[in-house]
Formats: sequence, structure tokens, C-alpha cells
Amino acid sequence: METHLADFVRDTSAGQEAEAILRKCVHCGFCTATCPTYQLFGDELDGPRGRIYLIKQVLEGETPTAKTQMHLDRCLTCRACETTCPSGVHYSRLLDIGRAMVDAQVPRGRVDVLTRTALKSFVPRAMLFGTAMKLGQMVRPLLPRAIKAKVPPLSSAGALPDATHARKMIALAGCVQPAMYPNINGATARVLDRLGITMLQGQTAGCCGALRFHLGDVAAAQDDARRNIDAWWPLLEAGAESIVMTASGCGVQVRDYAHLLQDDPNYRQKAARVALATRDVSEVLSAEAARLQDILKTLPSPDAMARRVAFHSPCTLQHGQQIRGLAEQMLEAAGFQLTPVADSHLCCGSAGTYSILQAEISRQLRDNKLAGLLGDAASPARPQTIASANVGCISQLAGGTSVPVKHWIELIDERLSGNR
Ligand code: SF4
Ligand code: SF4
Repeated sequence: METHLADFVRDTSAGQEAEAILRKCVHCGFCTATCPTYQLFGDELDGPRGRIYLIKQVLEGETPTAKTQMHLDRCLTCRACETTCPSGVHYSRLLDIGRAMVDAQVPRGRVDVLTRTALKSFVPRAMLFGTAMKLGQMVRPLLPRAIKAKVPPLSSAGALPDATHARKMIALAGCVQPAMYPNINGATARVLDRLGITMLQGQTAGCCGALRFHLGDVAAAQDDARRNIDAWWPLLEAGAESIVMTASGCGVQVRDYAHLLQDDPNYRQKAARVALATRDVSEVLSAEAARLQDILKTLPSPDAMARRVAFHSPCTLQHGQQIRGLAEQMLEAAGFQLTPVADSHLCCGSAGTYSILQAEISRQLRDNKLAGLLGDAASPARPQTIASANVGCISQLAGGTSVPVKHWIELIDERLSGNR
């Protein structure tokens, strides 16, 4: 796509990066067919190719409007379009650049500003968020339906292993997961323990930075990345093999630390090493598949009634990290039956803070996703459990169904501990 950058952006690194991305786009529109917001609205400007045109116009000097901002805001950053694109257009990076330029020129309304500020200040602070979540869980039966859907019942991490192994891996707790679903990292610690690996946690590590990054606060996201690198660095230096991500939304962000801190001479190299050491938990288990299989062989067959599972692969896993099929293989190896999922490439509508900022679109996408996962309510092949790989997706889906929604590693943990 030929582009003539305006003076204000021509000599900036963002402008040059955007131009290089735009040059790759051949306007074919293949991406449009797999875009969830295009499917909902049927408007070219709510699909990737239309958004690329809007960003190109801004880069060429056209003044963006509130309508431009709305079409960019409606994008989930699910990156399904990147998976579809035959030309390798790095759409999400272009969107980051475009959003920052539009936000610099189009002021947001007061309510929008307040909501975004509250989200940036509150959610990434694990202590604050955890306290509020506990209070919400205590009064959960009294909460209005919309809020109740976002407050899971109180749960615990379960018994944590006390054995210490020579092999060690670091796990990121993250900001919301410990308060909402503590059993996910508890299950990971127990499964790794069975594989002869001790799970460590950098005490001062916290939010991966994705939330603030996607709300446009790049400096705060860089601070989050530096704090996590400082927390993990001594453990990596002491021999920890990997940094394990149990939330794919965090994984895609941590894998991008090298890019995020590329202009910081003090952290550039450390960020690159951290990014290289980062593994989704499905990659970790896949690499240990033979050992896992040996353990599974010693266990009785799983309960046939509880075996049917529908797996929702988060966008941050299948599109953001391009990891496909590993969690599914692990579940099948553990004796679970995976049920067919319609439109498995589509987003569930969670997308970080999207479910709050674009609540109506998010709800429609969630209901469509649940229909694709659960199929016909009368079918005897209907799944008994939905499994996923990201806390945001799990919370989003759980808010719209009575079918249990879990992280897939919890199912492996249940199987290994004889509860399935
Ligand atoms: S990231 Fe997702 S919602 Fe955004 S344009 Fe691409 S496919 Fe559509
Ligand atoms: S599929 Fe790729 S090349 Fe084709 S319009 Fe979409 S972004 Fe451009």
C-alpha cells in the first residue's frame, strides 16, 4: 500500500515502522472475513482493512474524528486478522501506533477518561484488586447480575507442594488471577511438581503491563516490565529454566518485552533474555509429554461422565503467540474428549478491558462463542466443562453459562490427583 507520510510523523521511528507495515498490505481483504467486529457490524471500517485505511489517512495528515476513534476502539486486538493475512501484515503494531496518534488528537469524553483512569489505577494493583474482589465475593449473592458475572465465587489455590526439585521454573502470578482464580497457579505448581519441577514466583513481580499498554499508557507498561524483569532476573541467573505463563494474555505481553524496552539501554538485553525464556504452560507440558504419559499410565481411567471438554483457545494464544493445538493434545493425552467447536478462531469478547469499555459488543461475542462451544443444548455430546488458557476468557465465558469453565491445567491437575 503506497503511503505518503505527513511531516509530523515522517522522521519518527513510529512513522517509519507504520509505513513499513502499510507497504506489506495488498488490500486483498482476506482478513475481513475472519474479523469478529466485521462479522457483527458488516461495516468495512469495523474490519482490519478499513481500520488500516483509517490509520493510513491519519499518518498522511488527515485529521481524525470521534468516528475514527470509535472504529479503532471497537477493535479487540484479537489478531485473528494477522493469522489470516497472507502478506504478514503486523496489524496489531500498526493499531498501537494509530491509536496513540488518534488519541493525541481526539479528546475523549469525561466518563470514558474516568473509566480508563480507574481501570489503569485499580486493576493492575494486585493488593487493591484482591481486597475489592474478596469483598465482592463475600456479598456475591446480593450483587446485580452484571457485576456478579464478573465476580467468581471464592476459591483457594489448594495444597501447594512442599518438595524441592533441582529443576526450577518461574511462574507469573499476574494482577487479577490470584484473586479471581488462585487454583490456576496452584494446579500448575502441583502438575510441575509431579514432573519434578519446582515452581518459583518472583516476590515483587506483578501485572505484566498488558492492561496499561492497551489503555495507551506505554510508560507505565514499561515500568511494569522493568519491575518484573528485576524480580525474575536473580532467579534466572540462579538457573531457573523458564518463565511460565498460565495466562496467555500475559504471555503475549511478556514475549514482547524486548520490543517494549528496545530503547532502554539498561534493560534492553535483559528484556530480550526474559522474552526468550518465556513459555506458555502448554509449551512446558508439551516438552514433558513423555514423563506426563508415564504418570498417566499409572492412573485409573478418567470418569467417563466428566470427560467431554470444549476448549476455547484464547486469541492471545492462537493468534498472539501462534500456539495452536498443544493444550488440546495434553487434554486428549490425559483422557479427555474434546468436543467440536464452531468458529474456534473467533474472540470471546473478553480482550482485556474491552468487556468493560465495549460491554454490549463484548456480550454479543461471548454469547456467540458460548453457542459455538456448547452446541445444541439437547445433544448427548454436549461438553460438561469448558476449558481455556487465559483468566480473562475464563471469567468472560463463566459469566454467561452455568457449565463450569476452568483453565485446562486445572483439569490435568484433577486428573493427576485422581479427581477425574
Ligand atoms: S484485531 Fe481482531 S477485531 Fe481487530 S481488526 Fe483484527 S480481527 Fe478485527
Ligand atoms: S489480509 Fe493482509 S494484505 Fe490483505 S487486506 Fe488484510 S492486512 Fe492487507
